[in-house]
Amino acid sequence: MGIFDKIFGDANKKAIKTIEPLVKSVNELESQFGRFSLDPHTKRELVPAAPSEAGSRYGVGVDELKAKTEEFKKRLAEGESLDDILPEAFAAVREASKRTLGQRHFDVQLIGGVVLHQGKIAEMKTGEGKTLVATLPVYLNALAGHGVHIVTVNDYLSRRDTVWMGQIYHALGLTVGCLNHEASYVYDPSHVSEKKEEGLDKERDTTGAFKVVHEFLRPVGRREAYEADITYGTNNEFGFDYLRDNMAYDLSQMVQAKGHNFAIVDEVDSILIDEARTPLIISAPDAESTKLYETFSKIVPRLKENEDYNVDEKLKAVSITEGGIEKVENMLGLKNIYEEGGTRYVHHLEQALKAQILFHRDKDYVVKDGEIIIVDEFTGRLMPGRRWSEGLHQAVEAKEEVLVQKESRTLATITFQNYFRLYKKLAGMTGTAQTSAEEFHKVYGIDVISVPTNKPMIRTDLPDRIYKVEEGKFRALVREIKERHEKGQPVLVGTVSITKNEILSALLGREGVPHKVLNAKNHEQEGEIIAQAGRAGAVTVATNMAGRGVDIILGGNPPDSAEAQKVVEFGGLHVIGTERHEARRIDNQLRGRSGRQGDPGSSQFFVSTEDDLVRVFGGDRLKNLMERLGVGDDDVIENRLVSRAIEQAQSKIEGNNFDIRKYVLEYDDVMNKHRTAIYKLRREILDGENVKEKVADSIYEETERIIGAHTSTETGEWNIEEIAESMKAMIPMEEDLHQKLREISDSRDIQRLNDFLKEIADSAYAQREKQAGEEAMRNLERMLFLRVVDELWVDHLEQMEYLRDSVRLRAYGQRDPLVEYKIEGQKMFNQLQAAINSQVANLIFKVSFIHPHTKQGSAIESRDESYSRSGVGAQMQQEATRQTPSAHGPKVGRNDPCPCGSGKKYKKCHGK
Ligand code: ADP
Ligand code: MG
Repeated sequence: MGIFDKIFGDANKKAIKTIEPLVKSVNELESQFGRFSLDPHTKRELVPAAPSEAGSRYGVGVDELKAKTEEFKKRLAEGESLDDILPEAFAAVREASKRTLGQRHFDVQLIGGVVLHQGKIAEMKTGEGKTLVATLPVYLNALAGHGVHIVTVNDYLSRRDTVWMGQIYHALGLTVGCLNHEASYVYDPSHVSEKKEEGLDKERDTTGAFKVVHEFLRPVGRREAYEADITYGTNNEFGFDYLRDNMAYDLSQMVQAKGHNFAIVDEVDSILIDEARTPLIISAPDAESTKLYETFSKIVPRLKENEDYNVDEKLKAVSITEGGIEKVENMLGLKNIYEEGGTRYVHHLEQALKAQILFHRDKDYVVKDGEIIIVDEFTGRLMPGRRWSEGLHQAVEAKEEVLVQKESRTLATITFQNYFRLYKKLAGMTGTAQTSAEEFHKVYGIDVISVPTNKPMIRTDLPDRIYKVEEGKFRALVREIKERHEKGQPVLVGTVSITKNEILSALLGREGVPHKVLNAKNHEQEGEIIAQAGRAGAVTVATNMAGRGVDIILGGNPPDSAEAQKVVEFGGLHVIGTERHEARRIDNQLRGRSGRQGDPGSSQFFVSTEDDLVRVFGGDRLKNLMERLGVGDDDVIENRLVSRAIEQAQSKIEGNNFDIRKYVLEYDDVMNKHRTAIYKLRREILDGENVKEKVADSIYEETERIIGAHTSTETGEWNIEEIAESMKAMIPMEEDLHQKLREISDSRDIQRLNDFLKEIADSAYAQREKQAGEEAMRNLERMLFLRVVDELWVDHLEQMEYLRDSVRLRAYGQRDPLVEYKIEGQKMFNQLQAAINSQVANLIFKVSFIHPHTKQGSAIESRDESYSRSGVGAQMQQEATRQTPSAHGPKVGRNDPCPCGSGKKYKKCHGK
């Protein structure tokens, strides 16, 4: 044991020691809670719990367990803390579990429950019953009423756990929701007839570990699933819902109404480490915009300066006159460009104008190999890879008639790291966390505590078998599997890829060895198969994702004690790894399938010098050495030194992968600040918080910008012409400002000028509001603001992407690309904020109606693989297509409950 392990081991022991008194308290409460009875509704034969007084039977008496929940809630409301009621709450859960599922939480499971409640990672071996462990902290934390999320690796497991554990929560009076990709559910036994329920219930008690009794799931809307006290779902579903919520145009469309209170992540290493390399992305193909750039590029040459548009060289701005707008509308066959095309058309028009009038070939840019390359305005250097923002680059491409880059526009994106950091408290559980403890600590700030097993672990991990060539290894594998199978021992074979999986399957087939092949294609079906992998003589060949989360019980499931006994005599489940994985953690996951709950078992890895992992790290040298020693193709060596070298290679790869994830995260952290700010702004607008004020501020800012650009403090020169023109470009008006402006100009009083322009803006705004009506105006402000924010935000995302690529290109110098990215990113974000204000100010006087959602076609949800390399985790990536949620939410009546979930009436809450 190394010194680090020792210190670490001591800390772990200490942590467990401090939890033990709590376990004692829970145990002491058992007899008291044993007297309570269950929901009379379920009236079932119940498994006797620990001895309770006077032979009281379950099912007799009143509904005291549920009453306990109410009592706990009340006590919390009166100021007690979750820690205060922990022992009683755990005792209540254990009692509910005994009476429903017939399982009594082991003491080590109580320890695990406390670790999770503390917001840490509980490392508990496979088969220790982590699903049940989670019920303890989940119930306790759900009492506070802010929601608890349990994150699983696939949809099937979230359904399984909802149905399997749902009965415990239900008995305690809490509701459970379940998110799947295609649908959402709540746990609801009452929607099955009582007679049928009995049978189904029995089925669940025996095979609930792998079989989902779908009858207990009632389909509901997404929001309702989140409104439940407890919600099960995958990391993808939670993450995408978060992103979609932040694209909503109405509060009623937001589903994560309770926010992010407490999450427990099952198989936490898979989710927070293996999958954390690839961020979540919602994007939309953007063929339309390519066309638009071309269309507008053709329109601009037909417009005339000073008649249709005005150029302001100083501000590097072009503004279009009313006459110009009319002309464009005619050319496009539109009645009102603002209303029909929205800000998008106006934006395209503006960019096309800029591209053709303000940006000059061979001065601002050059055209090279069909690409537009920016010329740095200060140094004159070419800047390949950089692109102008907000579609300007595409507009220049259209102008030069080179290929307009078609992209799928990223509408929203987040890394899992930053999604899970949203939670006030985060915990996780897995069989294999310790080797990644550093990363968990550094990235998520959560510690790992290893919880002792319920029964001593007696699996033997045999030393690696090393072969010179892969072919020899495969022959040996087949011999080994066949031998054990014929003896009657169950064998689980783990492969690193689907290809290897298929090769091995073919070889086994040729030898006449019956076997099942799993490669994570259908989780539900594979769950059922893996549950039988412990039957006598079973051979199961699986990739590491397949059948995950489902326990392998010796003798099969439903349990058969005679068969189990036979399997024990054969030595239990034997696990064979056909190759070492990139991370020791994954190897351990595979081994961990055997030896659960004190079962006998064994594991062994087969390795060849031609395996990817070994090849990369000096496999050739090893092969030569073996050749010199005269090792034949079918000879095996077992050598500690070689195994050690492999483990070193693994930790090197682990280190590299950690770096990649750190890199992704460091960059996302920059974006995260922007995202947080924009999402907060969006939320304020949706909540209807002072939107009018925000719009007014935008207008004032715009007037100040106009003043700043056309009054010089140095020369004292005021350009009244330009001021008047710019004001008119923002606020369409009849009156002539010149007279009054000249007057003020004589005094050279900036403050007076400022007041005057604001006054004009204010009265124009009041006029506008009077015309439109107050309510319509508030609505318009809200919609316009959201629309502008969203469109510019999407541009910003794109821009930041370009920036990320370009700083990477520039990394050859002394400059740290990340620092560059941060500095440039901040600049861009300031520009974004200015652009939002400016657009709002310029549009609010011109539009009178905004469609609630932009035409983005169908959004595609995906995980960006450009970061990820092949290997572990890459198999998991899935792409999903889903329509953007319709932005037309149901109309809320003034007396209806407010859709925000506050419980107040709409008119008293967000409808105010
Ligand atoms: P893990 O996720 O830790 O690998 P599971 O939650 O899948 O383990 O549970 C493994 C098996 O152990 C399941 O079949 C479950 O029914 C059983 N189990 C868990 N806890 C208990 C308990 N306290 N008493 C009896 N069986 C239990
Ligand atoms: Mg599990």
